[in-house]
Amino acid sequence: MSPKSSILLIYTGGTIGMKEDPTIQALRPFDFSQILAEVPELRKFAYKIDAVTFDPLIDSSDIEPQSWVTLVELIEQRYDSYDGFVILHGTDTMAYSASALSFMIEGLTKPVILTGSQLPIGMPRTDGKENLISAVEIAAAKDEEGHALVPEVCIYFDNILMRGNRTTKVNSDHFRAFRSENLPPLAEAGISIRYNTGIILKPEDWTSTPIFHKSLNTNVSVLKIHPGITPQVVRGILCAPESKAVILETYGAGNAPSKEWFLDMIKEAVAMGKILLNVTQCRAGSVNMDIYATGKCLKEAGIVSGYDSTTESALAKLFFLMGTDYDNTQRAALLETDLRGEITK
Ligand code: ASP
Repeated sequence: MSPKSSILLIYTGGTIGMKEDPTIQALRPFDFSQILAEVPELRKFAYKIDAVTFDPLIDSSDIEPQSWVTLVELIEQRYDSYDGFVILHGTDTMAYSASALSFMIEGLTKPVILTGSQLPIGMPRTDGKENLISAVEIAAAKDEEGHALVPEVCIYFDNILMRGNRTTKVNSDHFRAFRSENLPPLAEAGISIRYNTGIILKPEDWTSTPIFHKSLNTNVSVLKIHPGITPQVVRGILCAPESKAVILETYGAGNAPSKEWFLDMIKEAVAMGKILLNVTQCRAGSVNMDIYATGKCLKEAGIVSGYDSTTESALAKLFFLMGTDYDNTQRAALLETDLRGEITK
């Protein structure tokens, strides 16, 4: 019997790939080339599953943009050989990595599904097995014409498939570790996997090869506004010579203090040629700088709207756009444009 689909599993590190080593009575990463022996349930699919492992393995708190470039290169090199890609990743920064990959791969025609777990795969109550098995099934799923059901970068976790650049890690204890507050799930796994086909993005041309972007510029900072924030702190972040763009995490619908010193510093940073992007601290909802006077002042000072973007996605989008040859006017326009389903306007 010829295999139905072929999947490349990429293990980057994180809790999911651990199992108890009885000799040292501690958790240690298991050998992913033996994945079918470790998770025999995967054999039932009759898929061809190959695995590659990062060396060294990375606790995702140590992930760097260079790791995203490595992932993009791996996917590019093997793109024609596999029907889908499953990336096993620590949960701590999975939302950042999923967001970054979504911008770095343009015109995706195959699934790239990130997953991980709260409990190691070698523990009795692990969530890792279910997450891995369903992620593989989703990465392999095709329609009658042979096209991928979900040709997007996604996170699959605790029975929910989410668009990667819409996710945030919201819980460090529960199995439901991720949320996508501003976009419904792309699929939900129960007895069967139900796909929300109406919102899943499709490529313009199934036969075209994606563009793999590998140049990122990380001179971007995040400034979280809070009561009592001082001019020194705001200046230190907004006007630092090395930051070329700053994400402002503002209140509610995109509001910030209306104090004169604050608005003057915003104007100064804009005059220095920096891009300032407004995202909300709220878990759900969107920036709308036209509602309140405090928001209007920001808009007039030259701040760009991040709409309902997560901070993770805004950061990844800026790393990507600052790494392109566009000028700042074009970058600002693209920030306010939905490139990969990351914002709703
Ligand atoms: N610190 C780990 C990591 O993010 C936690 C996990 O795997 O969930 O790599």
